[in-house]
Amino acid sequence: MSISKTPIRTRFAPSPSGFLHLGNIRAALFNWLLAKSLGGTMLLRIEDTDANRSGDNYAAAIEDDLSWLGLDWAGTPIQQSQRTTEYNQALQTLLNNEKAYHCFCSPEALKAERARQLQAGQPPRYSGVCARGSVQEAQRRLNNGEPAVVRFRMPATEIEFNDIVYGSMNFDGGDIGDFVLRRADGTFSFFFVNAVDDALCGVTHVLRGADHLANTPRQVALLSALMLKFPTYGHVPLINDVDGRPLSKRNDRDGMSSLRDLRKKGYIPKAIVNYLARLGHTIADNQLLTLAELASIFNTEALSKAPSKYDGAQLAHRQKEATLILDAAEWRSWLCSVLPATLVDNPVFYEGARENIVLFKEAKEWAAVVDAENLQFTEAAQQALADANFYHAALAELQDDMEWKSFCVRVGSVTGKKGRELFLPLRAALTGRTDGPVMGPLFTLIGKKMAHARICQHT
Ligand code: GLU
Repeated sequence: MSISKTPIRTRFAPSPSGFLHLGNIRAALFNWLLAKSLGGTMLLRIEDTDANRSGDNYAAAIEDDLSWLGLDWAGTPIQQSQRTTEYNQALQTLLNNEKAYHCFCSPEALKAERARQLQAGQPPRYSGVCARGSVQEAQRRLNNGEPAVVRFRMPATEIEFNDIVYGSMNFDGGDIGDFVLRRADGTFSFFFVNAVDDALCGVTHVLRGADHLANTPRQVALLSALMLKFPTYGHVPLINDVDGRPLSKRNDRDGMSSLRDLRKKGYIPKAIVNYLARLGHTIADNQLLTLAELASIFNTEALSKAPSKYDGAQLAHRQKEATLILDAAEWRSWLCSVLPATLVDNPVFYEGARENIVLFKEAKEWAAVVDAENLQFTEAAQQALADANFYHAALAELQDDMEWKSFCVRVGSVTGKKGRELFLPLRAALTGRTDGPVMGPLFTLIGKKMAHARICQHT
């Protein structure tokens, strides 16, 4: 479906009930890219009507995570918990026009009705007992203090809308049943506030998870009853994990689906946005692109109808690409939170280590190997250690400002060792490991004094 080139307004509407996971971030990214691709803006709306599940810390984390990724929003974030007046007004309009009504059915009665319908093989939906009562009777019961919810009178007509991803959609309103707008405790349902806010805030386009597709006919009917314009919706199939289950915080097996976890591991924004922009959205150009470049080629027609599969290896590949193009200043600011300043500011470190550090764990490995007073030895390193004679010979060859290569050549010539027999015992003594970053710059960073002390331990 092509989108007209009038200024558009999208929004990202997370519920602050946890940290953002990759599915949320992709929704934010797609809405941002869509807005920017057409010169529009994105709003941020914090859907915090469920006070029990919402946390201020999560709302703040959402803003922080989006800013960290480089995704901005227009104006101050909208907080649903602050908009009760607007929702009550919309609700009153619906009640005044008899498009909504008070329902006094008890939870027990509704539960029994549901069970009966399911047993008879029917889709469970409200049978409409209270829909048939008079407004006066409802008022009398309300005055008596009877608890009531407010239900929307769902029209039993065909509900049609054009989905950006799935095209023309048709639902039978009669199958849906009258749904709750406001609960007996005064809180509002998701369907209601989500739709009302989109309309009142002038949202023109919504890209959201396909798990919301079944909500859309309700929301279209609701906004039509309020004589409000409904946005153009696009439902994007969910991201599945390797086992085909939707990615979520609950089944986050490798700690990869929360953005916070990725940040803690050292993933950088460019890698994440480049990975996600291509997840369920085809981009011919396979290079790492900036957000502005991604926006310039974002195309709703390239959104896939099939679920996408999360691939950690692909994300790691993007991370590798993204770290390789960091300049010295960017590289230092990326690592300064996890490495000592003396190391991160050392140009030899940048030159030597940049190809080896993809995530913080490798950066910490380097730091430990360079700085540790007491090296920890892996089992493999212990086995690779040579005898004392070898290290005596090596110590005798160690000179000030010596490069790794010349050191090896000299140790090789006096001990007669070569290849692994030469390198492994040296690496093991100097780093406590048999694997890890390349030895050249590492040797320079360790320095003669420390190298001497480490080799000495094995003589
Ligand atoms: N708060 C909803 C969610 O996080 C918003 C859905 C939507 O984008 O309309 O799933």
